[in-house]
Parts: sequence; structure tokens; C-alpha cells
Amino acid sequence: MQSLYRTAQAKSRKVTAGRSASFYPLAYGKRNARIREILHAPVTQAPSPHIALQQTGQKTTQQGTTPRKTGSSPAAGIIQRNTGETAAVMAQGTRTGSGLQFLPVNVTDTQVGPVSIAGGRRHRRASRLNVIIAANMTPRLLSRALLPLWTSATPFTPPGETSPLPLEIIDEETLAKALLVYNHSYLSLPDMPAWQVGLRLPLPVQIDETNGVATVNPGAIRRLAATFDQELIALLDSRTVSNTVPSAVMLTAEVDAFLSRNATAQRRGSNLSARAERNVQALRPFIEAVFARVNAADGFALALAFMTDQVNRTISLIGSQQDGAAILSLIQTRLNSAPGDITPEQQSHLDRANHMLALVSGGAVVAPPAERRQRHRRRRLEMRRSIAGRPCACMVFIHNDERNARRAVEDLHRACRYNLAIIDRGTLRSREISVPGQGATDPNELFPESVQTECTSNEAACRLYEASHNDRRAMQIQFFLTMKQCSKNFSLPTIALHNNRSSDTDAFRGAALSEQQNASLTGGVERETASGSGSRDDLRSRLQAVSPVVRGRRRPDFSRLLNLGGTTNIFRWCNMPEIVACHVGDTEHPDFVIWTTTREDFTAFSGQNFNVVLQDRAAGESATDLSTLYVRLGSDHRYINIETPHSRPTRLDSEAVRRENMNAITGALRARNLLCCDETLLGSVADIP
Ligand SMILES: [Zn+2]
Repeated sequence: MQSLYRTAQAKSRKVTAGRSASFYPLAYGKRNARIREILHAPVTQAPSPHIALQQTGQKTTQQGTTPRKTGSSPAAGIIQRNTGETAAVMAQGTRTGSGLQFLPVNVTDTQVGPVSIAGGRRHRRASRLNVIIAANMTPRLLSRALLPLWTSATPFTPPGETSPLPLEIIDEETLAKALLVYNHSYLSLPDMPAWQVGLRLPLPVQIDETNGVATVNPGAIRRLAATFDQELIALLDSRTVSNTVPSAVMLTAEVDAFLSRNATAQRRGSNLSARAERNVQALRPFIEAVFARVNAADGFALALAFMTDQVNRTISLIGSQQDGAAILSLIQTRLNSAPGDITPEQQSHLDRANHMLALVSGGAVVAPPAERRQRHRRRRLEMRRSIAGRPCACMVFIHNDERNARRAVEDLHRACRYNLAIIDRGTLRSREISVPGQGATDPNELFPESVQTECTSNEAACRLYEASHNDRRAMQIQFFLTMKQCSKNFSLPTIALHNNRSSDTDAFRGAALSEQQNASLTGGVERETASGSGSRDDLRSRLQAVSPVVRGRRRPDFSRLLNLGGTTNIFRWCNMPEIVACHVGDTEHPDFVIWTTTREDFTAFSGQNFNVVLQDRAAGESATDLSTLYVRLGSDHRYINIETPHSRPTRLDSEAVRRENMNAITGALRARNLLCCDETLLGSVADIP
């Protein structure tokens, strides 16, 4: 496990590609070649037996006397031409709640024919349809929205023939897979960090700009989909979530890291140019921060390099989006303040850049599409994909009133390679969420065994139920499936971050125990040890022994900490029925506690004097908790819950307190080799030893 993480930390694309060999039967280079081969295959060579049969049928027809009418081959089923279907698809681009927007907008009809341009940035000058994606969109839902472009296309008539080939009908899942394969490098499959709000996705839909007719190729879609790795099937249901603005310190650190890693204007410019083509919404705050940081000369050189990397087609796509237009205006401002002594080469690049910007200035600009309207409006556990590379763990944040933990997971998500399962923002004041038929409920209690069992054996049925119901079970399914995706089918360790009230331990911490008294409380406690050293009774006696004496009476009795229901501190956790073993390691921080579900993690944390407990069964307060889900999964499924105290719920603590807590969190993660972070970024929010 440990060596795996170290390998995963290597930045090299080759290492990543090598590790993902099991995900990809073809190496990246070969894969690109294969995709080109598929796209370049003649339309007439559809290899499916279905088509072959129909072709035979057609030949028979052609030998007869009556040529068939376009698209009405009985072997293919009756396909009626309906350009209204193209219009209906395109109309979604301007409908609020569709979650998508088209660029360009003037596709009038579709026809089957050869589609040769590659996905991603490879043929970025080509005229093709693009879609901008808003929140709550999955590849499957996108495919559902786009499918009629293929299923209602005018069938292809090969040169010299009088009858068209039958239209090959593809389905939603085939198209969804093909769209991902088509853009696999652009989206960085298999982790797909680019699947974010604001993504511009190029589609294999080539537009004839003279008449707005687009060419599509269902056969090529089917063949692309055939190369999709079934292991990645969960990607089809990946939802885009709203972007989060990084905290000010994190944004500053990101800009610093970017500038130091990309020392030349060329590298900075081409990096930002590629990102602008992909997602102007995600890039805008970052590029603004970059330009705010650099001086006039560097700003000019960066703006020039950005434009030198661009072509008219991409500038037009960027400039027609609101955030893109803002980016271009920033670029134009920097170009306008060119230093006096530029080289002839710079001058020619500047002339080109100004010419390109003039072509798009004053053009129509559209606001980003609104989020896709969900059929059932209810609170969700959202999954944010790792943005920094292949995830080494799934991080979870589920209690919205724990503001410091929310900030911590958001910072860690930007600095480290973690998938993040996070409760949607809702109201930040309340931990409880409203569950239909049940009312306010702790979201950490939505993980019952029944849903785990049923959705493990039949995920498709669970998805269907979730999409069509608005009840407690639908919410439980949604939560379960998000955890499954975040942890890559529970293969990644899961790390939950929480804050707890420290008022329950106020008196204990205020007693200022001596070193010796503190030492008397440390050590392991086992549930099955009935009495004597290492038993719960023994811990109770030891807590009583260190309780302060007031006028001959013990008061308060610290052993009461063991029985305070609903509180979180190491002593209370040591006394819970589902806890088989605990280790009191740091009595000065009784509210900094770790909950584990594997003996290996427990033993390692104990050995480094953390306050840690090990759960081995479903019982008590945690019976329907997330932790119990991992206990049921078995001993090789890691769940690590890290609790740090907050002074008051719903309040953000001071920077100093947050840093202390972040150091506690990162210290624990480092101890288990789970801190797969960019140290430069992490250093802005935690101390690096
Ligand atoms: Zn919590």
C-alpha cells in the first residue's frame, strides 16, 4: 500500500499511464492511433452483422425495379426525416435548467457521413459542435440530450449509389461512452478531473458552415464506444458540481506555484491558453490572480504568449462566453501596454494577436448556462473529483455546521490528490438535513445496511430508484453511490473530517494535570478485557484518581466523561459498545481523536501516541454511520475519521486555531502515508516538517 502511494506521487505522465495499465488495454499513443483509425474508417464499412444483413437486403432491392425512397429501408425500420429533432436538441442550449449550452448555435440538420476530426484540442481549427456543461450534468444525461442528432440524421448514400445505407441506431450509453473516448486525453481519463462546471466539450459533430448541416457518424460512435473500458463505467454517472473559489491563501499559493513551475512566458502562456480552451469559468479567477501578480513586462509577455498559442477558432469560442470575454479583455489590456523596445518577432506576434482579438470584439457574448434542474430538489452528497492528479484517498465532509472542517477539506482538495465527497452547501448553519418523511436528520446516519447490500448487488436498480423517487431511501442511495464513486468502489482509503465541541472537556483540560497524571491516563483499553489493567473499569478508576479534590470531595469526577452520550472525546469513545480497542495517547488534546475500522491503522496510530479507537461492529450511536459501512465491507477497507475541536459550531475559528487543527490532521495523514499533496500548496495552510 505504502509503496503504491509513493509511486502515485510521481508526477510523470508515463508513470501514471503505466499504473493505469489495468484501466486501459491500450497505451495512450496506441489509443490515439486506434481512435484515428476508427474515425477514418469509410462510412460504408460498418462491420456489425446487423448492418451487413441490411446491406444484403438492400442489394436485393437494388436489383429490383423500384429504388427505395431516402431513409425508408424496411430492413432498417422506417426512419422519418425530421429536422425538427435537430432544432429541439439545439433549443436545449438556450433553455434554463437544461444544464448545457451549444457553441455554435446554428446547426440546422444532421446527416450521416465521414467524421474525421479528432476530439480534444487536436483539430481545434475544425468547425464542429461544442457543448458547455453546467452543474448536475453527467455524461449519460448529456448523451440523452444529444442523442437525436445521431438517431434522426439523414442516412448516408455512398457515391454512385441511389439508395442510402440504413441508419444505424445507437443508444444513450453507447454515445456517452464514445464522447468520453473521443475526448479521453482532453478530459484526462480515467480520473476525468476536467469534468467540471464550465467544461467546453468538443463533439464528433462536424459542421458545414455554409448551410449549418452537421455530419455525424453512428458507426464511428459505436466503434469508439466499443473501446471504452468497462472498469470506468461509473464515469458515465459523474456529476459536475459547482466550482468553489479557493481560499485567498490557497489561491495565492496556487499562483506562486504556477509562476515558479512555469518560468518562461511561453510556458505560462500555453498553459493558460490550453486551460482557457477547456474551461473559461474555472480559469477566470486564477488568470485574474496571475495577472494581478506579475509586473507590466511579464504581463505583456504572458498575454502575448497566450495569444500566440491561440487560433481564430478557439479565440472565437473563448470570446463568445462571458468569462472568456473577460479573460480576453484582460489579455487585450496587457497587450495594449506593450513595452517600447519589443523585438520584430514580438511585434509580428502582437499584430497577429491584435488582429485576432479585433475579429471577436463586439461579438455576441453569452452568460454561462444555469445548472441542470434536478427532478427532485433535495440535499445531496456531492462528489468533487481530484483536480491535482490520481487520487490516493477519498475525503469526506458531511456536517455543514463544522465550518473549519469544511475549509480544511476544501484546502486539502486543492492541495492534494483527493476525491472529495461533500455535503452540498445548503444552509451552513445546520448539521441536520431534511429527509422526506423523516424530517431533520444527521446526514451521517444515512448509510443503512439494506441500501449497502442492495446497491452492491444491483447498482443499476438503485440508480433507477434514486432517479425516480424522492424519499429517504433515494437519499440513502445517493449518499451510498457517491461514497462508492469517491472511494473508487471502496478501494481507496476514506478519510472523514469533523469538528467537535470541546465544552465537554473544558473542566478536564482546565485542571492542568501534571505530567505524571497525564501519563497515568495513557495507554490501551480493550472492550473484552473485563477488569484490571487495560479494562474500561481501569480507565474509569484512573480518571477518578486524577479528578481534583475540592474541600475533601472529588469534584468534578472526570470519569463522567466516559458516559456523556453524544459527545466526542477520547474517553467517551473508549467506552462505546462498537469500539473494540482504544488508545489514549494525547491527554492534553482529548478532543483530537481518530476513529478507525482496520486493526493496521489503529495499531499504527497507537504506536505514535494519537488518541485513536477501533470499531469492529455495528452498534450504538454509529449503527447507520458511514464508519459502519466500512466495518461491514471488511478488514481491508480503510476508514479514518479525524476529529478536531472547534470553539463554536458554524463559526470559522481564527487562522491560528485552524492552522493548529490542520497540522493535527496532516500529522495524522502523514503518519499513515496518506498525505499525497503538493507540498508547496499544502505549505500555505499547514506546517511542513
Ligand atoms: Zn461531525
